[in-house]
Amino acid sequence: MSAGCGHEHSFDGMDDAYKRRLVIVTILNLLGFAIEMSAGALSGSQALKADALDFLADGATYALSLWAIGRPLQVRAGAAFAKGLSLVAIGLWIAGSTLYQVFYMGMPEPHVMSIVGLIALGINFVSVWLLMAYKDGDANVRSVWLCSRNDMIGNIAVVGAAGAVAVLGNGAPDLIVAFIMSALFLSSAGQILRQSATEWQRARSGEAVTHDHEHDHGHSH
Ligand SMILES: [Zn+2]
Repeated sequence: MSAGCGHEHSFDGMDDAYKRRLVIVTILNLLGFAIEMSAGALSGSQALKADALDFLADGATYALSLWAIGRPLQVRAGAAFAKGLSLVAIGLWIAGSTLYQVFYMGMPEPHVMSIVGLIALGINFVSVWLLMAYKDGDANVRSVWLCSRNDMIGNIAVVGAAGAVAVLGNGAPDLIVAFIMSALFLSSAGQILRQSATEWQRARSGEAVTHDHEHDHGHSH
């Protein structure tokens, strides 16, 4: 359960087979978001909605990273900063709407929760399988691979919460899982914002250096 997956991916220098698989994984993540978000709304499960937003954040990150290939470091640092801010918004939204549910005392529908949690697990499993062949090659692909693998823990937490909701006959386990996910979103947001601020600084000073040395090919310092 790695809400939003803290890494900043940059996919420079990858071959077309990598890229095709990453495009498929991106589409799978966005599909996972659509399925879990609508199921979350229908079943009244906060954990499903939080898990859905993890799919959205990851899918958007991969799409953005594929788009950012070959663009200047400053553009990428800006994209990472925007991602950090959107994770703050997601984390606060989950925390706020889950807090509302605490007082509203709704009971989510555990059957929908567990079936959709298993579908999400299947989507992440397929993503891990698609990237399996490349996991030892490139550090960025490895981090996407680890991200999907860790997200399977989140999916299992949703299925576990569904079981606990069914056994206890109340919605507390659903809310607890959603609160944990909102905390994870906020902590990855903090990491990404700090990291992108550092990269922004580096990009700015790098720009000054490039002015002095015409043949600088953008080496990192
Ligand atoms: Zn994730």
